[in-house]
Amino acid sequence: MKAEIIGVGTELLLGQIANTNAQYLSQKLAELGVNVYFHTVVGDNFERLTQTIHDGALRSDLIIFTGGLGPTQDDLTKETVAAFIGKPLVTDALAMQRIQESFDRRGIVMTENNRKQALVIEGSAVFNNDHGMAPGMGIRHEDTTFILLPGPPSELYPMVERYVIPYIQQLLPEKQLFHSRVLRFFGIGESALETELLDLIEQQTNPTIAPYAKEWEVTLRITAKAEQVEEAEALIAPVEAEIRKRVGQYLYGIGEETSLQQVLLETLRERKETVAFAESCTGGLLSTLLTSLPGSSSVYQGGISCYSNLAKQALLQIPESVLHTEGAVSAETAKRLAENVRLALSATHGISVTGVAGPDAVEGKQVGLVYIGLASEGKPTIVKEFQLAGRRRAIVGRAAKHAMFLALQ
Ligand code: ATP
Ligand code: MG
Repeated sequence: MKAEIIGVGTELLLGQIANTNAQYLSQKLAELGVNVYFHTVVGDNFERLTQTIHDGALRSDLIIFTGGLGPTQDDLTKETVAAFIGKPLVTDALAMQRIQESFDRRGIVMTENNRKQALVIEGSAVFNNDHGMAPGMGIRHEDTTFILLPGPPSELYPMVERYVIPYIQQLLPEKQLFHSRVLRFFGIGESALETELLDLIEQQTNPTIAPYAKEWEVTLRITAKAEQVEEAEALIAPVEAEIRKRVGQYLYGIGEETSLQQVLLETLRERKETVAFAESCTGGLLSTLLTSLPGSSSVYQGGISCYSNLAKQALLQIPESVLHTEGAVSAETAKRLAENVRLALSATHGISVTGVAGPDAVEGKQVGLVYIGLASEGKPTIVKEFQLAGRRRAIVGRAAKHAMFLALQ
C-alpha cells in the first residue's frame, strides 16, 4: 500500500508551525508496514488543494489529510475533498450532539459556524473527536482511501490511536507486523561493523539489518516482517547467530533500552560480585552511571574521584615516585589505582581510569591517551592503553564505556 500525507494550512507554509503531524503519522504508518512516499503541505486554498488531491489520487492508495476541519472560513479540507469525489457534506448527528453538549457544558451559545464542524462527507466512516469538536473521517473513492483528520495534535493523536489505526488495518491485504531485535555493540566502529556484515546486510530483505551509531556505541536493528511475532523471531534467529559468530566479541547487550552500566550491574549481581572505582579523568562518571540504576547498591562498593596527584597519593597510596617517574597517566598508576581501590573497599573488582581528556596535553602525553586498570580478586591485574578520539566529552564518555566493557570481559 502506497500512502501520502497532506498537511493543510497556510500557517505551515509560513513556518509558524512545524509539520509534526506528518512525522507522527509517518511513524505510525511505518509500524503498520504502510509505505509513505510523499509529504505535501498546501495552504488553505481550494484550487491548490484540489490540484494536490488530484496528484495524490493518481499515485497513492491512501491519502491522509491533517488540518482544516475546524469551524472557520479558511478550514476547507472536507469541502474540497467532497467536491473532488463528488459527494455532498451531511451533518453527522452524533458529532452535532457532542458539539452542542460541549457548548452547553461551558454555558456558551454556539455560533452558527460551529455546525460546520459536524459536517462529514456522505458515506464516510466517522472518527469521533474525543478531545475536541470536529470529527475525522475516512472514505474510499475509486482506488484511493481518503482520511481527514483535525490539525491540533492533541485531537489527532488519540483519534489515530483509537480509530484510525484499526481503520487502516482493515484496509491492509494481509495482517503483517514488524518485529525487531536490537543488538548493542561497543568497541567497534559503525563502518567496521558494517564491513564485517556487509554481505549479510546486502543480501537480507527479511529480516533487514540496519546499523546506527550513537554515543560511541553501535546498535544493530534486525527487523522481520511476518504475520506473527514467533514467525518473525524465527526469521531473525539465524541471522543473529551469524552476526554473533562474526562480531560477537563486541556484543554487550540486547534491547534499545539497555546500557553498559545496566549489563554490568546485572552481570555482577548474578555472580554476586562487587566493584569499586578509582576515577581520575572520568571524575566520578562511572559512579554516576552505575548509581543511576536502581539496585546498584548490591554491587557498588563506592568510588574515589582521585583527580589530582594529591588525591591519588593521599587516598589511594600511589607513591610520589611513581607519579614522578611514570606519571599520573601511566599503566603503572592505573594498575595501582585499580588494585588499591579494590583493597580499600573490599570489592571483587577494582577499576581505574586515568587519562588526558584535553584540551591540553598533560605530562607531555597527548590528548586522548587513557589507561584503564582492572584488578580482580585472585587474578593478575589487567591494564589497557587506549588512544581515544574526539573532544573532552567524547574522551571522558568513551573512557567510562571502555572501563565498563573491560569489566564485562
Ligand atoms: P481547529 O478546529 O482547531 O481549527 P483544524 O482541523 O481546522 O482545527 P487547523 O485550523 O488547520 O486545524 O490547525 C489548527 C491547529 O492545529 C494549528 O494552529 C496548529 O497548532 C495545529 N496543526 C495544524 N496542522 C498541523 C500539523 N501539520 N502539524 C502540527 N500541528 C498542526
Ligand atoms: Mg482551523
